[in-house]
Amino acid sequence: MPRYEFRCRACGDTFEVNRSMAAAADPATCPQGHADTVKLLSAVAVTGRGGVAGGGPASAGGGCCGGACGC
Ligand SMILES: [Zn+2]
Repeated sequence: MPRYEFRCRACGDTFEVNRSMAAAADPATCPQGHADTVKLLSAVAVTGRGGVAGGGPASAGGGCCGGACGC
């Protein structure tokens, strides 16, 4: 189940919530009970594929062909 990070605008606390993707946009209540929270981008989404800057298939990863042939 994906994990989402929220920040409370009332007390400034950040907290994580495990919930289904279908409920990702639902409002979350902070541990102190405040409802004025905003969802933060997850670290996974921000990091992404950082090191790869394009190029041919051979540059996409290790192995003989970057994984395209399954070898
Ligand atoms: Zn709060």
